[in-house]
Amino acid sequence: DVAMYVAKTNGKGRCEVFRPSHHAAQLDRERLQADLHQALDRQQFVLHYQPIVDLASEHISGYEALLRWQHPERGLVPPVKFIALAEDSGLIVPIGRWALREATRQAAAWQTQHPGADLRVSVNVSVRQFQHPGLIEDITDALHHAGLDPRLLTLEITESLFVRDTEGTAGKLRQIRELGVRLALDDFGTGYSSLSYLRRFPIDILKIDKSFVSGVGVNAEDRAVIGAIVQLGQTLQLDLVAEGIETTTELTALQALGVQYGQGYHLGRPAATTAHEDLSDRHLERRQPGSRGRPLRP
Ligand code: C2E
Ligand code: MG
Ligand code: MG
Ligand code: MG
Repeated sequence: DVAMYVAKTNGKGRCEVFRPSHHAAQLDRERLQADLHQALDRQQFVLHYQPIVDLASEHISGYEALLRWQHPERGLVPPVKFIALAEDSGLIVPIGRWALREATRQAAAWQTQHPGADLRVSVNVSVRQFQHPGLIEDITDALHHAGLDPRLLTLEITESLFVRDTEGTAGKLRQIRELGVRLALDDFGTGYSSLSYLRRFPIDILKIDKSFVSGVGVNAEDRAVIGAIVQLGQTLQLDLVAEGIETTTELTALQALGVQYGQGYHLGRPAATTAHEDLSDRHLERRQPGSRGRPLRP
């Protein structure tokens, strides 16, 4: 089927003209794909952790685990460069299993280091990983190995999951929920948003996409959108996390709108755990008045 072939080749059904630069890019992708196959065995993956902050108290409530690939020649490769490749090849399943193990182990270590702080950990789960039949077992195995309270684990999914197979999806989400694990809808507002999904699927948390957060200090429309999401959250009893907070202006506006949690470079960048061990010690306590707006960094 020619139409299928074209669509598969370039994803958009456009005609592509062969150019040497395309060839080079293709070779580069193939090399990266080959390296990716060995990356897990060679222990080249690492999780960085970004704080999720209670905006009212400015306490850290937990961290999102963000995957990086420590490539021997390319250095630290961000997920945008390899997650799609890992999805295409199916490697995302074992990589995601590793991320679940590692993040739950880390969260259990925080429990030991800061008893009573109940720091949560969030792990991103992509579509292919979610659809894999072993997902529930991977989650329960990770929790069991780490000895982590399931309530301290959140899985972040995206709206792209809701496009097809809604019955199977809803069932699996319910199974995850029954374990005590919480579910967050990532990048809320950017995808196939239909508010009916929020009734149909058992979601606990909405992560408001950065694209709405960026304008919130200066743009009345963005403020109105976030105000509406705050009301929605109250009505449906969903926790809200604002993503990508980069400035004091954004932080102040979100606090005024009553958004409960936030995440962003202004509050703390993703970092390897060693950097955060200090940070947690210092900032688990209420911060001094007047320190608002200063980055939560050592
Ligand atoms: P995401 O889950 O929406 O994660 C938030 C992304 O925004 C992260 O990018 C984070 O570093 C970045 N970010 C945080 N604060 C700010 C800010 O103030 N400004 C800006 N401009 N960016 C900010 P990162 O780490 O490059 O991850 C990109 C995406 O890759 C994630 O988006 C997630 O969809 C995916 N990803 C990351 N780790 C994993 C993983 O372990 N498994 C899977 N399946 N996907 C992952
Ligand atoms: Mg996320
Ligand atoms: Mg996001
Ligand atoms: Mg994103």
